[in-house]
Amino acid sequence: MKNINFTCPFCSLLCDDVQLEIKKNSFKPVNSGCSLLVSSLKKKINDQFSRVNGKKTNISEAITELSLMIKESKSTLFTGMATDIKGTKAALNIIDKYKCIVDHFSGDSYSKNLKSMQETGGFFLTLSELKNRADTIIIFQSTGEELPRLFEKYIFPKKTINNLKKRKVIFIGTKVPKFFYKNKKIINFEFIKLDSINLLNFLSSIRNSINFETKEAKDKRILYLLDILKKTNYGSILWNASEFQNDISDVIINEINLLIQDLNKFTRFSGLSLSASDHVLTVNEVLLWQTGFPIRTSFANGFPTHDTNQFSTKKLIDNKEIDLVVWINSFNEKSIVINKKIKNVLIGIPSHPQKNNVDIFIPVGTPGLDHNSHLLRVDKVVSMPLKKIRNISLPSVDQILNKVKEGVTDDN
Ligand code: SF4
Repeated sequence: MKNINFTCPFCSLLCDDVQLEIKKNSFKPVNSGCSLLVSSLKKKINDQFSRVNGKKTNISEAITELSLMIKESKSTLFTGMATDIKGTKAALNIIDKYKCIVDHFSGDSYSKNLKSMQETGGFFLTLSELKNRADTIIIFQSTGEELPRLFEKYIFPKKTINNLKKRKVIFIGTKVPKFFYKNKKIINFEFIKLDSINLLNFLSSIRNSINFETKEAKDKRILYLLDILKKTNYGSILWNASEFQNDISDVIINEINLLIQDLNKFTRFSGLSLSASDHVLTVNEVLLWQTGFPIRTSFANGFPTHDTNQFSTKKLIDNKEIDLVVWINSFNEKSIVINKKIKNVLIGIPSHPQKNNVDIFIPVGTPGLDHNSHLLRVDKVVSMPLKKIRNISLPSVDQILNKVKEGVTDDN
């Protein structure tokens, strides 16, 4: 039995302060009770077989079958895309060459942030600024479930490098995160209860008051917040697109980004979107580096075409606009949409409960557990190196996809 330092790959906070106790191939966190970390490490691997039509087979046969399927497909979607930098690059090699479409598990919420960024631009926040500098933090409706240690590490840290003493934390939304309730005796925060529709009106009123210096705002909560905003020297605004009412979430995000711009006319404010599950930021950045286009891009015409509505996974699968979907998830067992009228492939962790329901299942290891890896942190300014710590022979997504590509090419 020994203890090791560990950089956790299970959410895009990528905590590098975790210590694990190792006994053979089982791992127990020593200094963190993060529920996502604990449950992710507990997953049991009962078998590591690939499957074709639900029948166990060896990995080479499954790879050959997948190569053949891609070759025969008229339109293939790569989605889920819960993988690391190398996995994304390997997928992109196939997507580009064989005229496929790419989306991600978080496509719906992330594309709303993308759209807003394209329309309004943005002022971006780093985790270090959030932890060490922000004297006012406003959180718009985020339970923090996607980034379980965000509040503990960055909003209510025990220490900051410049010994920041006074910090105002204001939560605006429908329901206070569990962390706030659990720790209410030791942390200070304000809660403004608003659902998404009222939040939209609230944001517009604040912006009006700032831009037109109207003295008409009667709502005490608006007056109170305006007062705080005016006294702020280094402000942060956080939000999670997936937790707003879906049909107006894009308008809310636009208003938030515009509010940040308004605030920067008289003080310093920046923002961070917390819709970062399944490492969408890593995947999106690789796509941007390599092609100049984000998720929800099709290469069917021989060049990238980006459209957040047209290339949504749900739409493409529901309407059978594709004949093959390749799901990738090397981190967790998130459920996938299976339409039996098209071919379905899952490249996933061996404990995935839907592995018998797809045409082809290929097991892969988890980055930072079963192989060395790089992933981008939620603020996109740090690319974290992760080390293999587990000794079981599970291939990485890039190893599988490189072989699949060779197979498609050989058959030509
Ligand atoms: S917050 Fe995220 S990165 Fe940190 S320990 Fe929990 S799951 Fe891992």
